[in-house]
Amino acid sequence: MMTRIIDYCLALDVKATGIYNTLAEKGGDKKLRAFWLQIAENNERHLVYWNQLHAWAETGYLDNIFDDPGKVLKDLETLKERIDLLSEQAGRIADLEKAFALAFKLEFYLLHPVFEQLLQYQQNLSEGIGEQIGYDRHINLLFEGLYEHDLVTMELELLGETLHRLWQENRKMAILSNTDELTGVLNRRGLFNAMRHLGHLAQRNDNIAGVLMIDIDHFKQINDTYGHQCGDRVLKYVAATIRANIRASDVVGRYGGEEFLVFLSMVAPDALRDVAEKIRLSVASGGVVDQPVTISIGGAADRIGKDVDQSLQGMIKMADKNLYQAKTDGRNRVII
Ligand code: GH3
Ligand code: MG
Ligand code: MG
Repeated sequence: MMTRIIDYCLALDVKATGIYNTLAEKGGDKKLRAFWLQIAENNERHLVYWNQLHAWAETGYLDNIFDDPGKVLKDLETLKERIDLLSEQAGRIADLEKAFALAFKLEFYLLHPVFEQLLQYQQNLSEGIGEQIGYDRHINLLFEGLYEHDLVTMELELLGETLHRLWQENRKMAILSNTDELTGVLNRRGLFNAMRHLGHLAQRNDNIAGVLMIDIDHFKQINDTYGHQCGDRVLKYVAATIRANIRASDVVGRYGGEEFLVFLSMVAPDALRDVAEKIRLSVASGGVVDQPVTISIGGAADRIGKDVDQSLQGMIKMADKNLYQAKTDGRNRVII
């Protein structure tokens, strides 16, 4: 199902490039031709991302991204009909103003949240694959084109601004769906998506991966003593401290109320303990309330087996067991 979704997105993006090429062929002056070609070329760069997503979909990394993949596919089918229609219209377009209106319409279709969600997922998880892709840049280019070719009408301007706003909202939503609003680290859904993804990579490279389960000590008492709002500040403080003590390639998410999970896709068992101790000491040395905030950590390190999900579940279970042990041994400690 996910490969079909990705292939649909790819086909739609290819179609969009085709439409921009058609607009270029329709001519106008040399400058205008270059303008449409530039947009077409920009659009073509998305192919790298879709190809990467396609490869991931085939290995099953993307299985949990959408709550309802069936609906996503239906939406894409409808979009395809509309973009096909635009493609026909592009061939018949005579005047410039209409060409811009058509381009805005096309970009509007491509602002479907599915695109943003997938592309953002791709960007979050592949380091150094390149610049941020900008559907916004497209919109900005179109905007600039409008001015350059002296075509600014109220309607086209409004269309452009609406698109830009929509794009920003989309982006925000795509980020929110994977992020815990209070602490800014991944939420449970984002965490499991990232872990599954990194777990596959760790398995392929035969790396040892590590899990740290982190729970704030006597957090209920902090809430009771200082109030829920202070409790929230402590949660933010702990999340930020964890983030500051792990590598950019490690992920941290809010696993439950006052429980965080860190996943390290490549770690030596001794190093896992070092990281955990560093986090523990760092949390205990600062704070945002009048008493020290301490955490207990349970960890597990292992190679990831063929069944990635099962391996991950096994590691989480082990880390959880060790966390429980850390609590019963007196808290503010690491057990791995
Ligand atoms: P222990 O050392 O055994 O972990 O004790 P604890 O008090 O930390 O554990 P317990 O599970 O009894 O309490 C967790 C508390 O976390 C209870 C709940 O009200 C609080 N909590 C969960 N989510 C939030 C949140 O988002 N904000 C705040 N302020 N408190 C939260
Ligand atoms: Mg707890
Ligand atoms: Mg606790």
